[in-house]
Amino acid sequence: MEKGWSGLPYHSIAEHYKRIFKEKIYKIPVTVVDDCPNRMGLKGMKTCSFCDVWGSAAREDSFEMNLHDQITKFQKIIADRYHAKNFLVYFQAYTNTFTKISALRSNFDEALSFPFVKGFVLGTRPDCLSPAVLNLWQEYYQKSFVAVELGVQSFYDEHLEFMQRGHTAEDSIKAIHKIADTTAVDLGIHLIFGSPAESDQQIIDTAKRCNDLPITNVKLHNLHVLKNTTLEKWFNAGEFAPIEKEDYKNKVLLFLSHLHPRIAVHRLAAFASRWEELIAPKWTSDKMGTHQFIVDELRGAKVFQGCLVPPQNENDKHLFNIMKSRIERNDRN
Ligand code: SF4
Repeated sequence: MEKGWSGLPYHSIAEHYKRIFKEKIYKIPVTVVDDCPNRMGLKGMKTCSFCDVWGSAAREDSFEMNLHDQITKFQKIIADRYHAKNFLVYFQAYTNTFTKISALRSNFDEALSFPFVKGFVLGTRPDCLSPAVLNLWQEYYQKSFVAVELGVQSFYDEHLEFMQRGHTAEDSIKAIHKIADTTAVDLGIHLIFGSPAESDQQIIDTAKRCNDLPITNVKLHNLHVLKNTTLEKWFNAGEFAPIEKEDYKNKVLLFLSHLHPRIAVHRLAAFASRWEELIAPKWTSDKMGTHQFIVDELRGAKVFQGCLVPPQNENDKHLFNIMKSRIERNDRN
């Protein structure tokens, strides 16, 4: 922490993992379920307006392989490309707790049977958390690293309705507390900015809400339009306009200014795993360009994560002073 966040004006998830594992860690995205309550139309729910048929799966070929073969194949690709040695298995697509406990247990055991796997990360929804699921996480947490990424997306019901999430903001808040009260898993949430009529005050209050919740990380996305989604229909009918790059950048700067430095940030914007399926906005197809644009804008505006959060203790003050002097020197090292 002496130098701030390895040259970045925000607390990256890489930094968070480095503190836990003492070395760089890579995620192996896998697909083990192919459904969710929304897609099944349970209790009158609809597919989320932004979600395409892949349900956030990183790779199409994962659907044709069992878990063992996915881990073997994707670990090799990542290891060859990045000289990676340590991995987390990321149960990413659809709703990973929307299955039997016996299936979850068998998937966790399979993942942890690989010597290079240091733990796993699960993506799920606030309304798919039975006591049995929470007990199972805690059981595996005793022997491995377990992280959960909860699809909260917004703390405003009007935006959740637009996204057709089928749960409320209150459901998410209760779920976060339930997980934190009954397990010690590393808990993060996903947020989407860019719903119609989203105000700056809502962005600020979202950051403050995060500060008050027992989470360690957030993942940021802009609401983008993918092929064969409800959002595409609304976009084609002129009923939805995706957020412009400049406006989205302003939201991220505002959010990070008010986000407490203890909370790590996964990514600063969405990216589609299959670019040919991205309809709009086109700027979101330039993953690295968008990331660099936002980082440069943070530096240019002399903004860093938590710069508007009053320091609460000596650690906060120390980090605040480091980041302030770094950003004033525009120091990248
Ligand atoms: S985003 Fe998740 S919960 Fe929503 S439809 Fe897609 S897979 Fe289902």
